Amino acid sequence: MDKFEVKEEFKKRYKYIYENSKLILLPYIYADLNKRVGFREPDELFLTNLESFLLSDIKMETSDLYKIVESKKSDIKELSRIKSVMDLIGNQEINTIDGRRYDFGSILLDDWDILLLTWSFIKSQDLRNKVVNKELDALNSYFEMARYTNDGKVWKGGRYRSPYDNYNGIHPKEKIHRIVEESIPKNDKRKSNIKPGIFVNTIVEFKNNNETFLEESDKEEIYFSLHDEIPWNLEIECDINKSELNSSEYNTPKCIKKIRVDEDKIFINPNSNINRYLILCPHCGKIVNVNDSLLSDGVKLRIEKRCQKDPYLFRKMCLYSELQLIKEINSESGKILLKKESNI
Ligand SMILES: [Zn+2]
Repeated sequence: MDKFEVKEEFKKRYKYIYENSKLILLPYIYADLNKRVGFREPDELFLTNLESFLLSDIKMETSDLYKIVESKKSDIKELSRIKSVMDLIGNQEINTIDGRRYDFGSILLDDWDILLLTWSFIKSQDLRNKVVNKELDALNSYFEMARYTNDGKVWKGGRYRSPYDNYNGIHPKEKIHRIVEESIPKNDKRKSNIKPGIFVNTIVEFKNNNETFLEESDKEEIYFSLHDEIPWNLEIECDINKSELNSSEYNTPKCIKKIRVDEDKIFINPNSNINRYLILCPHCGKIVNVNDSLLSDGVKLRIEKRCQKDPYLFRKMCLYSELQLIKEINSESGKILLKKESNI
């Protein structure tokens, strides 16, 4: 594996744990007769498989964890168990285990949980061993990825917050109380079962050379391949040529100002499949087409659902746009007219 291949392998592995975290972690969730839910200590084989999946040189598709998870996907029994436990978790708000209160509404079984488990497991191994520290260093890159947020904040931290993360409040993934982390006894000295090879060494080398293993653009690429969201900074130009909907009788000057594409402000033209997604220019009031290719399927579906609730939305937006345009061109003459009327 060269540097490029290590990065590609890293991306693949992160995406996999992100997409399959529930399937991976659910065997360790328990619910008793009183419908109390908790997380029991995972067995060592499972933890070793996780460690190996994330950090060894074994290609993802040939790893034990991958094979186990993929076999579950065809197991209808397992899938229905997952659904029933997730429903149960969803219904639990606050519950008590061993006299401690846990908010079970926040059991996420997400990528962060998997990373925390692996982190705790590696930390429970002999920390004087250089191999262990190298592994933690490499694992930190997964945390860096998991910290990415679609809001313009650049998080520099990994497992722990970085002093450069000068944002108010706590990172959303750290806000949640994670009982999975507590499931691994802290002082249990174990030996690592994997030998760090090219994969770990390559990531660590980047850090040792003060280089960035994961650029912001890599994080973006991974994030948007996993989330149906519009990038927070997506802008389009208000261009009259694109807005066929506005009547040319309003001879307004070309606006060409930037419009932030906010999902909640997009509406649809129910009569068109070509220029279906539209947005009102906040500067001049023109209706501008949002190119289809800028929106993922999930985003489109949410917009369609929202707009279906109001059958008059498109009409209203057209009228609103027209009103804005008239106001814009007639603001001066309108004022004079109003003045004259009030003098009568
Ligand atoms: Zn405009």
